[in-house]
Amino acid sequence: MNVTERFLKYVGYDTESDPASTTTPSSLKQLTLAKALVEEMKEMGIQDAYVDTYGIVYGTIPATKQGVKTVGFIAHMDTSPDMSGKDIKPRIIDEYDGGVIVLNEEKDIKMGPDEFDSLKDKKGKRLIVTDGTTLLGADDKAGIAEILSMAEIIMQSDCPHGTIKLAFTPDEEVGRGADHFNIEAFGADFAYTVDGGEVDSVDYENFNAASAEVEIQGRSIHPGDAKGKMINALLVGMEFHSLLPVFDNPAYTEGYEGFHHLTDMHGECEHAQLSYIIRNHDEVLFEKQKQQFKDAADYINKKYPEGTITLTIKDSYANMRQIIEKDMSIITLVKEAMKQVGIEPTSHAIRGGTDGARLTYDGLPCPNLGTGGYNYHGKYEFACIDEMEKSVELLVKIVENIAK
Ligand SMILES: [Zn+2]
Repeated sequence: MNVTERFLKYVGYDTESDPASTTTPSSLKQLTLAKALVEEMKEMGIQDAYVDTYGIVYGTIPATKQGVKTVGFIAHMDTSPDMSGKDIKPRIIDEYDGGVIVLNEEKDIKMGPDEFDSLKDKKGKRLIVTDGTTLLGADDKAGIAEILSMAEIIMQSDCPHGTIKLAFTPDEEVGRGADHFNIEAFGADFAYTVDGGEVDSVDYENFNAASAEVEIQGRSIHPGDAKGKMINALLVGMEFHSLLPVFDNPAYTEGYEGFHHLTDMHGECEHAQLSYIIRNHDEVLFEKQKQQFKDAADYINKKYPEGTITLTIKDSYANMRQIIEKDMSIITLVKEAMKQVGIEPTSHAIRGGTDGARLTYDGLPCPNLGTGGYNYHGKYEFACIDEMEKSVELLVKIVENIAK
């Protein structure tokens, strides 16, 4: 099976995860793919392949050379709950002409390079697109297909290599992909998530992230009798928000610019609550943003009775760069392998978090590699076959280079 055949097989499994569920994995249908992957791995000769009680698939390709570092490759099995992942009808475009692609004639669903930058450099390439009614699932079944295609090539070659660890996780899209990952059992010295975007990207920067809950205690009095007594919690909430820098807002930021984002506000005169997320790649600026929240709360508590605002800031995840940059060899390794297979390496600052960031902080350094999949979480999702094939070549080269 080549990487495209593998990919098309996996998208036949509906593995949509469910943020509302409390089970692990969040949707049991993910286990159907997990079991199929274990079968496939065993047939390939990965004898220890298994799925654990949390729905994570693990497997090992034993070393053919001793004294070589153990590398891991990780991809996720679930697809985003933002759009249905059921009855996906992928279509291959053998040579993209660079124009508008009609995904669905009947429903008049099209995509073109004017709307989607990611199509601009794809002229002449082979693409896999949806029929406009579902997502494609290249996020992240392209990653699984690429890792197992690499595994098959390595196992059939006589090229010396160290131990290679493979893992496929459920529930990445609902933020629980790293919750039960057993780093110790996995036993890799370092790993790569293979998940998303241009095949020339090796990404090791993500946001530092925190949440801020603002509880406001007002004082409700009959409005006709309120002079000098009423404290309207809703108005205090608006005042609190007005004390924060106005341009630190997702709608005004890009690249390395951080933001705070008001995700929810509700309340009444007596009591109000505002919820925020705070994001920044830079640790120092991130701390400064948190301090601005504290200063705003202090000001309110001086102006109004003490205890009017209760602010709770919790860190969610951190930028893996702070750890990766202490030893950049796992990035250099990728960049050199890229050049050897004819790719010019790029790195992007991810404006979000990754499972790899969590794993990095838990002790397994884990940057991300691109898959050749684009426009995630919706009907415009597509995969570039040429890039998927390039990714397989790259993964093989990385494995070979580690053993040199
Ligand atoms: Zn993904």
